[in-house]
Amino acid sequence: MSQQSYKIIVTTHKNPDGDALGSSIAISRFLRKLGHKVSIVIPDAIPSFYLWMPDIDQAIIFDDDNALCFSIFSDADYLIATDLNSLSRNMSMSVSINNIKAFRICIDHHLDPPQNEWDILISDNNVSSTSEIIYDLLTYMDPNLIDKQIAECIYTGIYTDTNKFFHCCNCSHPYEIIAELIKKGINVNEINNLIYNSYTYDRFRLLGYSIYEKLKFIENKGVAYIKLTQKELQEFNYHPGYTEGIVSMPLSIENVNVSALISERKDHIKISLRSKAAYDVRYLAQRYFNGGGHKNASGADFYGSLDEAEKIFIEAVEEYL
Ligand code: 5GP
Ligand code: MN
Repeated sequence: MSQQSYKIIVTTHKNPDGDALGSSIAISRFLRKLGHKVSIVIPDAIPSFYLWMPDIDQAIIFDDDNALCFSIFSDADYLIATDLNSLSRNMSMSVSINNIKAFRICIDHHLDPPQNEWDILISDNNVSSTSEIIYDLLTYMDPNLIDKQIAECIYTGIYTDTNKFFHCCNCSHPYEIIAELIKKGINVNEINNLIYNSYTYDRFRLLGYSIYEKLKFIENKGVAYIKLTQKELQEFNYHPGYTEGIVSMPLSIENVNVSALISERKDHIKISLRSKAAYDVRYLAQRYFNGGGHKNASGADFYGSLDEAEKIFIEAVEEYL
């Protein structure tokens, strides 16, 4: 691939998180260095606490400019999807990708990727993050092309997908990678601050409100959950990314093993699930909400009312936990 210049689309999942952005930007920057014409297409808005990331200004948001994305899609030689195992997760965007001629490559760490969707599938669910896979791949291809900016992206993916090295990190490899990234010149402290010490006042108050006013505790099941209406989100001047992190907070309670955030979005209900190591929320997301994810961090989009989603969640807890 390095001899000729190809038109490549790099994309990732909607509601992009640190791993989605880190893995897609890192591979894009690397491929540009090899002489390819790369377009980064992100399905929807990027949270403000990731806007410092290298090359982020070059990302095209599908929701903001459908027409531009259609023309990029139809012209592409390759499509590389990172941190998602099925394009169908991106709803509206998936329709416009369905019939394009591009060769499809998936690089991801979610379980059970649909094999027939991809021409090449690089999938490993035993790693901390997709960014970890990307780092190994780029190192294999040419470690000298990994610059400080690529290193910052990889670090962001590993750091956020392990929830600040809290889970999925009881093995040495992610730490070995971080050591190499530091040698590339990244400032770990600065990145940590940019991602996690960058709440707006409104976002921080929404976190407090969610815990103090909205937390419900199903004590005999070791479950805590928070339900937020669209009106409540608007009261705190909701912006993309404002609810990120809320769902993990109840796991700090000693007897809570599973936590959920059920929040009302414009056209659907967003379900976020988190659990302590031994508990599998992926099953819950899949079985009851047609979603997916990882054993300890899963999610789904539910098309119904907020109260219906809560009812199903409570039934699921009663049945499964
Ligand atoms: P979050 O709660 O942060 O939105 O998502 C947590 C994890 O759940 C993500 O890393 C992703 O793997 C998975 N996830 C979230 N929403 C969906 C969804 O609608 N479908 C599937 N298959 N997985 C999801
Ligand atoms: Mn990930």
